Amino acid sequence: NLFLNNLLEVSAWNAANRTNQTALIYEDRSTTYGEFDKYSSQVAAGLDSLNVKAGSRVAILSKDIDYGYEILFGCAKSGAVLISMNWRLSARELKYILEDGDAELLFVQQEFVDLIKEILPELPLVRNIITIEGDGSKYPDYQSWRDGFSALNPPSFTPGEEDAVLQLYTSGTTGKPKGVQLAHYTFFRLLHHMYNAGDKWMDLNDQDVLLVSLPMFHIGGLWWAVQGFISGSTNVLIDVFIAWKVLQLIEKHKITKIELVPAMLGFCLSEPAFQTTDFSSVKAILYGGSPISDVLMSKAAGKFGCDFFQIYGMTETGNMAVCLRPEDHHVNGVKRLNAAGRPLPGVEVKIIDPSGRQLKATEVGEIYIKSPSVMLAYWKNQEETDGTLVDGWIRTGDGGYQDQDGYLYVCDRIKDMIICAGENIFPAEIEAVLCEHEDVAEAAVIGIPDDLLGESVKAFVVLKPGAVLKSRALIGFVRARLANFKGPNSVSFIEELPRNPSGKILKRVLREPYWTGRKRAVN
Ligand code: ATP
Ligand code: MG
Repeated sequence: NLFLNNLLEVSAWNAANRTNQTALIYEDRSTTYGEFDKYSSQVAAGLDSLNVKAGSRVAILSKDIDYGYEILFGCAKSGAVLISMNWRLSARELKYILEDGDAELLFVQQEFVDLIKEILPELPLVRNIITIEGDGSKYPDYQSWRDGFSALNPPSFTPGEEDAVLQLYTSGTTGKPKGVQLAHYTFFRLLHHMYNAGDKWMDLNDQDVLLVSLPMFHIGGLWWAVQGFISGSTNVLIDVFIAWKVLQLIEKHKITKIELVPAMLGFCLSEPAFQTTDFSSVKAILYGGSPISDVLMSKAAGKFGCDFFQIYGMTETGNMAVCLRPEDHHVNGVKRLNAAGRPLPGVEVKIIDPSGRQLKATEVGEIYIKSPSVMLAYWKNQEETDGTLVDGWIRTGDGGYQDQDGYLYVCDRIKDMIICAGENIFPAEIEAVLCEHEDVAEAAVIGIPDDLLGESVKAFVVLKPGAVLKSRALIGFVRARLANFKGPNSVSFIEELPRNPSGKILKRVLREPYWTGRKRAVN
């Protein structure tokens, strides 16, 4: 459906041409494309009644259920911008986003109402609350609220391709979360480029049944579901990723295509039911966020026997920009499992050194991306926007290189890079080796100040239950496998690594006590 240019057209086209086909399945509720169009128009009429105008901001705090997507399309139909929030955030973090985003209306799932109550008095802009799966006693409940409006007279709003429709906050791995504003075109322009280049990519189509297992508050999950709507497939939702439930859904709904992060695949593989699950319907698995390990790949490939695609991208690039195709995953033959892939049609990648010079193949520097799906800007943050969106290029903040064949390798975040006696060290490489040790559960490596070397390498390690290990032995283990200067100079054993609500390790928290009053060379 490559003539579609915005979410309204997607909804209308599907309603007219696939009226009775199932658009969404959530638990035992399914919604046809006809119903979906009607419900989202009712939402738009409801927003109008609450005086939510085009350009206003509406927030949602909910696990992934079908209503979330009705609300997204309802917002699109009224010109409102949806802020989809991570329900694992604390009240304080949610307050930051609601305030920063100027949210006027909040859809909140009943189980998070108590969390929100704490901060509501400090959020004068939030005029209305609507609960999802609530009892309707204190706030109107979504379903009856929606059904109180007619779908016949939604506000007459015609979006431009460049109108914002979504505001997603980055994970806040490297600092405060930033509100990335995405326009309708984010979901379409890259597809158009791919189509024109004859690239069928995953060949999403109306016979597909997609499993939406990544959350709606991250670009990965939301973008995947919207691709499903664009191709007219059936989208199966799961509110929270639980491996055995996912396996059941795959079998029950004969899922054809799945998007996940490699860790989720790991959880599925270690689930007893994995051995007996029928995966014959699965044609392709898309994963992102990190490369896949050789071990995981070999285990998964045998069982699924389907195509694997890796994507690299970020909220700011409107999700995928670089893709590693099935042929690069072949278990027998040339494998490029450590690569993130090659730029998709319409996307450009370049590697830049700190002085702004463009580097050649195999040289490591910062990854810059130019994509037709690029964000509009960070919301109300001109300074960060100017630092990140430079002449149409996104500075990813990730370090990496391209090989002679144009494959991109992501090393680590630039901010986490350690400069030790003039050598650039990417912690990810050392962490991977530490985790190869049989006693190590997880590890994080940072640079700490060193008067002689500039920075020295420090590892934080969580041991497996019951394991006993001396730091000397572990340092020796790394030095036997990597260049000497990469071997940590010191190791601290700790109970748990600090993580943000997306599960990413917070290096800045580990670094803080060592750097108070001092400035790092990379920043
Ligand atoms: P913040 O920008 O607030 O610090 P964040 O960058 O973690 O948070 P996201 O936009 O959710 O927020 O994550 C994008 C990042 O995830 C990329 O910049 C990159 O570091 C990492 N990433 C994504 N895909 C891959 C991949 N295939 N391989 C390696 N790293 C990846
Ligand atoms: Mg980022």
